Amino acid sequence: MTKIENILRAIKEDLLPLTRKGVEEGNHVFGGLVLDAGSLKTIVAGTNNRQGNPIFHGEIDTIMRFFSMKDHPDPSECIFVASHDPCSMCISAIAWSGFKEIWVLFGYEDVAKDFEMPVDLIMYKEIFGAEGAKEKNLFFRKYSIKHELEKEPDPSALMEQINEIANIYSSLEVKDFNYPGMQSHER
Ligand SMILES: [Zn+2]
Repeated sequence: MTKIENILRAIKEDLLPLTRKGVEEGNHVFGGLVLDAGSLKTIVAGTNNRQGNPIFHGEIDTIMRFFSMKDHPDPSECIFVASHDPCSMCISAIAWSGFKEIWVLFGYEDVAKDFEMPVDLIMYKEIFGAEGAKEKNLFFRKYSIKHELEKEPDPSALMEQINEIANIYSSLEVKDFNYPGMQSHER
């Protein structure tokens, strides 16, 4: 299996069942995984837990689970996988944690359009005057699975797998949730 195949398998087998359960409990769909950089085996998966606390995004949940594991490896020996391009809080948390390689399935555009979740981008813009996080910086390198798969031997087979995953995500019914910090953006 190639690296991207492994990442997609982990999203499907290790993350989605967790997310399905979380969404039933009123949480959002974003989730994360930490994989061993060498074997690409899943070390831990986490999913949004905003019902418990509005800042418990999927990536934060993943990071908390990772550091609560006894004998967890060094983050620099792992890769961080985010189902959706992380928000400003989560991308900073990933950097603060010491993960140096991030792989993202759905981009900010997908998040705003298909997942009706434009708050991430609004927050980047309103607070930081930015369109999102830089892919290459002193802290980490962030890769888009959809862009990188073009370099793989069979991109269309991988795209098919991604569409399958996207269909599972869109079948999950996310309940309404008011973001406490958000004022009307129709100012
Ligand atoms: Zn977040």
